[in-house]
Formats: sequence, structure tokens, C-alpha cells
Amino acid sequence: MRPAAINTVDFLNTSFREIRRAEHGIARDQISRNALKVTDRLQQAGHLAYIVGGAPRDLLLGVVPKDFDIGTDASPEQVRALFRNARLIGRRFRLAHVRFGREIIEVATFRGFGDGDDGDRDVGDSGRVLRDNVFGSEAEDALRRDFTVNALMYDPATETLRDYAGGFDDVAARRLRLIGDAQARYREDPVRMLRAVRFQTKLDLTAEGETGALIPEMASLLADIPPARLLDELLKLLLSGHAATGFAGLVATGLWQQLFPGLLADPHDPPLLLKRALANTDQRVAEDKPVTPGFLFAALFWPRVSARSRALVDAGQPPIDALAQAGEEAFSDPAWRVAVHRRFSTMAKEIWMFQPRFERRRGKRALKLLGERRFRAAYDFLLLRALEDPSLTELAEWWTEIQQLDAQGREQMVAGGARHRSPRTRPAP
Ligand code: ATP
Ligand code: MG
Repeated sequence: MRPAAINTVDFLNTSFREIRRAEHGIARDQISRNALKVTDRLQQAGHLAYIVGGAPRDLLLGVVPKDFDIGTDASPEQVRALFRNARLIGRRFRLAHVRFGREIIEVATFRGFGDGDDGDRDVGDSGRVLRDNVFGSEAEDALRRDFTVNALMYDPATETLRDYAGGFDDVAARRLRLIGDAQARYREDPVRMLRAVRFQTKLDLTAEGETGALIPEMASLLADIPPARLLDELLKLLLSGHAATGFAGLVATGLWQQLFPGLLADPHDPPLLLKRALANTDQRVAEDKPVTPGFLFAALFWPRVSARSRALVDAGQPPIDALAQAGEEAFSDPAWRVAVHRRFSTMAKEIWMFQPRFERRRGKRALKLLGERRFRAAYDFLLLRALEDPSLTELAEWWTEIQQLDAQGREQMVAGGARHRSPRTRPAP
């Protein structure tokens, strides 16, 4: 168990700065209407209720918030009693989810210090949780948060911000700063180091003082974090729309090297295929297209898988078997600290196993590939491989071209016929 956080912030400091609309500029109508319904009803029932966490921060930064979370002094049961559409979730720390069609508003009772945030602390039943006195005051709820910019509370009724930690000035200066003693806050939850890199890259903030400086020396504390939680945080970073700079930030701080030690020969100079995969992911996020971590993991592990596969072939194994074995081995290395979920590793293996099949360009078998579920991802992966291996250029172009033809043209191509179209065009990656 982690050391209790009780000494890490000055919990007696319960004063806050109240910032009015003229100064902060956030209008009530920038908040989701459903979130407003929830704060209004809670307040009418005599409770405190604020928009907390990422949303006030994002609105100050001019970013559209992903979601609107609410903090309240009402207990989960009181929240449930007020909303027909509320459901209590979570075992260790119960939250209310209030559902409005597809939007879910998360309502959390103010927490005190000492709870480990993301459900990774093993506390038995809810009775135990209450004896640990996890619920707290409004001030405690602000100060137990990680960064000052994440601790702002917005009251829609008065359109004021309540700032317990100096987050308002930090947003203005684009500063990322831990609340309280930086070393203690990282020690208490080392995942905050990953979050620091994510918020810096995604929100273009700069970690100031110890918040930034301590990360390289404390990076090895990630060893104690459950691998599934590391996957969650890593995915948030990779899918944030800033995977390329986020990855570089992880490498520069040494955090990456903790997650997958030894996977990349030189993480400071990653393979072109990986750089392009990260950049493509960011572009897809920017275009609101779906992205899948399976593809990124396929790119990330490919140098190892292809090298291992070649070694097995040199030792006499048939190529397909070698590739399959190398793919199986890739994710099971005990050195990895991140538990790559099976649905992602399965997709990566499917993408890899598709690659040799591109080489068979004759007959019905080739036509069949075009209709397979993994064709698109595997083809995109082939394009990435061709960036690094010019001997694949012609093959990649062949598969680009056949997709652009009608049924008759395709038949001719797999029959070895002349190409229909030139000049060759390549779809945007
Ligand atoms: P995003 O927009 O990326 O979701 P966010 O700030 O909302 O950013 P979340 O992970 O959704 O990030 O967390 C919501 C809030 O909970 C944070 O703003 C922060 O106040 C608090 N929080 C989350 N994780 C931690 C942590 N590990 N330690 C302390 N506070 C945390
Ligand atoms: Mg959030």
C-alpha cells in the first residue's frame, strides 16, 4: 500500500480564491445542459455541486471538454435519490452515473486524502472504505487532485471558479504543477508522471520546477504500478491526438524505457515505421476517424517480431510458423511492465500474419484477401513497411491499385494481366 497522502499537502489551507466571470470568461452555457441539470438539482436540494476536473481547465484553455464531471457533498445514495436516471457504480469508491440518452454525467462525492484514485488499491468492502474516511470536504477534494490546473471548481449558478491550488494562474501561464510536495505526490501515485507527460503534450503546458525535473529520477517507480493501469494511461496518451509528441516526451523523461525496457534498439531514434504509425494515428484523431491501439502495437513490436522471425527461419523453421511464433513471443516477454490487452495483441498478430499473404497475387485467393476483415489494417501496415523497405514498394502499389478497380479489372490483375491505370495513385496514408 502506498504511504498515506495526508502529509503531502497542507490540508489546513482551506482558503480559496474566487474568480468571477469577468475574469475567467467561462459562461454557463459552455457547460453541457445535462451537467447543468445535475448541478442545479443538487444545489436546489441544498447540496454543494461544482463542475470539476478536466472541464474547467479545458474551457479556460479554449479546448472543448471531453466530458463534464461533477463534485458534490451529497453522498452517492443522496445523488441516486435525486435522479431517476442515476446508477451507482464502483465498488471501492462509489460514484453516481446520471444518464441522459448517450451522455453520462459522472457525479462524485468529495473525497478526502489517502485514496488511491483509480481503483488500484485493494480495499475490501465498502464498510472498510468508509472507516478509512475517504469522503472529504470540498477543499480536500480539490487538494487531493494531482495538478493545480485539474483542481479548479466551477459553480454554474454564480458562474464563479473556486481555486484552492493556484490553478487559475497556472493555466494562464501554461504551467503544469503538482499540488503539494512534488516528490511525495509522485511517490504516492507514480502514474501521475505519465499524466504529466500527457497533459504537457496534449494541452501544451510546461511542467515547472520539480514537477518536471523529478520525473527522470523517479521514473523507475512505475515498476510498482499494476500493468493494466499502465496500459490505461498509455492508451490515453497514445489516443490523445498527440501520440507522436507524447511518445517523444515519454522517451525524453525515461518513462518509456520503464514501460517496455529494451523493446526498441534506440527509443530516441525510433524506427520510421513507428514514427509514421504515431503520426497517422494523430491525423486520424484530428479527422475524427476511429483509431485502434492494435495497429500501434503492431508497429511498435514489428522490429522485434520481424528480426526474431528471420532468426527462426535461419534456424530452419518454415516462414509462416516462424512469424507466428515470433508474434506469440512478442507480447509475453516478462520485461514488459504494460499488460497489452488481448484484444490489441490479437489484432497486431492478425496484421502480422496477413503480411506474407500479400505476396500471393494470383487467382481467387488474392481477390479473397480484399474482402477480409483485417485487409484494411494489414494493407495500411504494408504501406508503412514499404517506407522502410523499398523492395516492398512495388507490392504495396499493386495492392493500392487493385483496390481502385472494378470487379473486371481486379480479375485481370490477379490473372497477371496488364495494369489498367496509370499513373499510379496512392491513397493518403
Ligand atoms: P482528460 O480530459 O484527459 O480526461 P482529466 O483531467 O479529466 O483529463 P481524468 O483522468 O479524467 O483527467 O481525471 C479527472 C480528474 O480526476 C483530474 O482532472 C484530476 O483532478 C483527478 N485525477 C485523476 N487521476 C488522478 C490521480 N492519479 N491523482 C490525483 N488526481 C487525479
Ligand atoms: Mg476526464
